[in-house]
This record gives sequence, structure tokens and C-alpha cells, in this order.
Amino acid sequence: MPSQTTRPCIVWFRDDLRLSDHPALHAASRTGAPVVCLYVLDEHSPTLKTPEARPLGGAARWWLAQSLRALQASLTGLGATLVLRKGPAAKVIADLAREIDAGTVFWNEIAQAPHLAVAGQVAKALDEIGVGRQSFAGDLLVEPRAIRNKENRGLRVFTPFWRRVQSLGNPPTPLPAPKKLSGVKDLASDRLEDWKLEPAKPDWAGGLRESWKPGEAQAQAQLKSFLKSGVAGYTGERDRPDRDGTSRLSPHLRFGEISPRQLWHAARFAAAEHPRLAGDIEKLLSELGWREFCRHLLFDVPDLAMRNLQPSFDAFPWKSDAKALRAWQRGRTGYPIVDAGMRELWHTGVMHNRVRMVVASFLVKHLLIDWRHGEQWFWDTLVDADAASNPANWQWVAGSGADAAPYFRVFNPILQGEKFDPDGVYVRHWVPELKALPDNLIHQPWTATPLELASAGVELGNNYPEPIVDHKVGRERALAAYAKVRNAS
Ligand code: FAD
Repeated sequence: MPSQTTRPCIVWFRDDLRLSDHPALHAASRTGAPVVCLYVLDEHSPTLKTPEARPLGGAARWWLAQSLRALQASLTGLGATLVLRKGPAAKVIADLAREIDAGTVFWNEIAQAPHLAVAGQVAKALDEIGVGRQSFAGDLLVEPRAIRNKENRGLRVFTPFWRRVQSLGNPPTPLPAPKKLSGVKDLASDRLEDWKLEPAKPDWAGGLRESWKPGEAQAQAQLKSFLKSGVAGYTGERDRPDRDGTSRLSPHLRFGEISPRQLWHAARFAAAEHPRLAGDIEKLLSELGWREFCRHLLFDVPDLAMRNLQPSFDAFPWKSDAKALRAWQRGRTGYPIVDAGMRELWHTGVMHNRVRMVVASFLVKHLLIDWRHGEQWFWDTLVDADAASNPANWQWVAGSGADAAPYFRVFNPILQGEKFDPDGVYVRHWVPELKALPDNLIHQPWTATPLELASAGVELGNNYPEPIVDHKVGRERALAAYAKVRNAS
């Protein structure tokens, strides 16, 4: 029997599809033993059947397939392979450990309820067969247990939370990727194609392919180029959907192709080298802080996507309106900025953050549709769909969440468009039927005269919808509905 040190070890990959700053892979590579890299498509562990643990949405499944392909290629370059297996993680991992007589299984922890529970089952299964295990932090800047209030609860207000994170100093320095790995030959692996993560009939992923290149190499290249030539002016530009003013790192972070620690250190390094960028870089890091905040919240509230954090919202008189919901999903509300956002989402798998806020507010307030319907649509269509950031932001917009925008703040989709897309560049790109309208009408085509509409080729109610609700009426209706909740609480 091989000794403990030469017995192969297993690295279990999850939402950490990278080689650098991967504490589990780093530790495994340092044992000197052969390393088997494993990804488990686990849709069967009992804890993953709970309502809090949703299967990935369509766009995220597409991303996962590309990311696994990229990881496979990088591992092959180091001399190892990625073994793909399907089934409950505890069974798959224990079976593989027996099959190769593994000494130890390594993984990075993900501090979210279903992931923690699955990892607990894996740990138990390994203990039962006497295989060693080691897990590491690596998904966050700071683990949720390190930031608690006197009642041992996570902080619910962003500013003090972020101050606490910063007061803890720099997170650990990112680890290098291993230079070489020795794998174990001829292990059975599923074929990625057989997992059917990518859409086939119909293949609706053309826009995703055009828009993205998943994988660690691209994530690093994107970070580098953003810090070099994109971050200057981020503080103002980040609100402009008509410009390339943000990092576009969210899906890479979502799948762990890059770690928050890598972003933090690279950003701080850039700020030290170019002090004029310091303000914009602090802003960028505080956005990363929101990702952290949402994840800490999810740690405390595993059913964040299902229940209002503020119970007073349980009495909210939501409307059931399938037709309006569908118009919103398809980008046919008659409000150009809303429709542009929803079409951007459908085509590219992301939507600019400012526009996410506008469309979310429109659904929840103008249409009085429960935020959970919007959250679910985003879950299915976003490549960065995130179990923490998505519901936390939806609840923030709805007013039912932690540190939330007050409900009476109803975004005006016309003014938002005019302020953040002043030349209509974003709307013209995503709503081409309005392309020929002049700038002063592009965000409110219904105010155009028949002649203006005709000369722009716009036929309201025909090739572009009339507004599905009048802004003023929608706003007043929303405030009246909110008053009911407030009076009841
Ligand atoms: P940048 O501006 O470059 O920011 C850098 C990173 O900071 C982002 O990549 C992201 O990881 C993080 N970040 C920025 N803003 C936020 C935020 N408000 N909350 C949490 N993290 C943030 N983001 C997701 O990653 N997944 C989601 O499912 C998601 N759903 C959202 C739903 C709604 C209704 C709203 C209003 C926002 C949502 N966001 C979500 C947050 C935000 O819109 C995206 O993170 C951002 O648009 C990504 O673009 P970027 O990488 O260019 O961001």
C-alpha cells in the first residue's frame, strides 16, 4: 500500500474554477502526491433538494460548461486532468477516494447553507472510510463568523459592515498557481457534453458566446486591462449604461475564476502605483464589498430568495399579472430604458447595474409584481446569477431587505434614462425600432407628435408598445400600496 504522502489526493472544485489563489489546490500540490482534480455535478444531494438550493439557471449553466472546459485545458497544461462525475457529492467523492486509495481530499469552503451542508456530508462520508480531509477559506475577503454584532448576528447595514472589513486589514496575499501537477492516469470521467449544460434545440446562447469568454485566463486579462485603462473615472462612469465603465468581472467572480482577494490586492497595488486612481479604486473595492455584504447576509438568512427580510412586507398587496410580467421579461413595457435593459439581459446574460435597479423598481413598484418573480427571472437569465447578490439586491430595491432603499423611492424610468443615457446610445442599441427618434424623445416616445413618430418609423402600439402603465399612476398606486403595509405594521 502506498504511504500517506504518496497516496493520491483529490481536489474537489466547486465555485472556484481557477488554479491561482486556490488554497485547496495549492495545499494538495505541495504534498508532492499525485493530484486528482474533480468537479461533481451534484443535483441530487438531499440538501440540494431544499427550496433554498435552486438548480442553476440556463445562462449560468452555459457559463459553467465554458468555465469547466477552460479549467480542463489549464489543468492539462500542468499535467493533470479534470475528472467530471455526476451524483450526490458525498457518494461520488467517497467512491473516487476508494477507487484511487486517496490519502486526503481538499476543498475550499463556500459559506452558504446548501454548500456547507453538502461539504458536511462529504466530510462525514470521508471520516467513515478513514480518508483525510482539509478545507480552506477562499471565496470571501473575510469569513462571516469574523464579523458579528453583540447578538452574534451579521451586520445588516452596509457602511459599518464595510468599515469592519477594512479595519481587519488586507486579506491574505493570493497564492500562486501550481507550476506542475502529477495526475492519475485513466480515470473514468463523464463527457461534459453529456451533462447537457448548454442549450441545443433551440440554441439560444449565440448572444452569450458573442459577449463573453469564460475562464480564469480571461478573468485575469479583464482585471488587468480594467485596472490599466478602465478604472480611471469609475466613480462616475459606473452609472452610465451607454459606456464601458465597469469591470465586467461579475460572472468570473461568481464562478470563482478569479478570487476577491486577487481583485483586492491587484486593485490596491494599482492604487499604490498610480495615486490619482486611489478614489476610483476605493469605489471599486466598495462594490466588491457589496458582494461580500450579500454573501454574509445569505450566511445568516439561507432563505433570502424566498422571504422578505422585513416581515411587514409579507402583507404587501402584490398583483398577479401574468401579461405585465411577460411584457417586462420580453422588454415590451413601452419604457425604453426598461426595455433596453431587459433585452440586454436576454442577449448577453448581464445587465448594467444602474439599469438592473431601474427595471427592478419598475417591476416591483410600477407593476406591483412581487420581487420574487423578478429575482427568479434574473436567476434564469443572468450569467452572474448569484444566490446572494441577486435576492439581496432585489430586496434592496423592493425595500424589504437589509439596508434597503426606502420603498417610497420610486425610480422614474424617464428621468433615469435621460440622466444616465443622455444621448440615448444605450436605448438605440437595444431598442433599434426607436433608433431614429431624436434625443429629447428617445426616453419618452409617447410624447412625440404623430409627425415625429412617423418620420422616425415608430408606430406606437404596433412596432413599439405604448407604456403599459402611466408613470404617475404607477407611482401613486405604489405609494398607496406601501402605505397599507406601513399602516398595518
Ligand atoms: P463592477 O461595477 O465592476 O463591480 C465590481 C464587482 O463588485 C462586481 O463584479 C460584483 O461582484 C460586485 N458588485 C458590484 N455591485 C454589486 C452589488 N450591487 N451587489 C453585489 N455585488 C456587487 N450581481 C451579481 O454578481 N449577481 C447577481 O445575481 C446580481 N443580481 C442583481 C440584481 C439586481 C436587482 C441588482 C440591482 C443588482 C444585482 N447585482 C448582481 C449587482 C450588480 O448589478 C452586478 O454585480 C454588476 O452589474 C456587475 O457588473 P460589473 O462586474 O461590471 O460590476
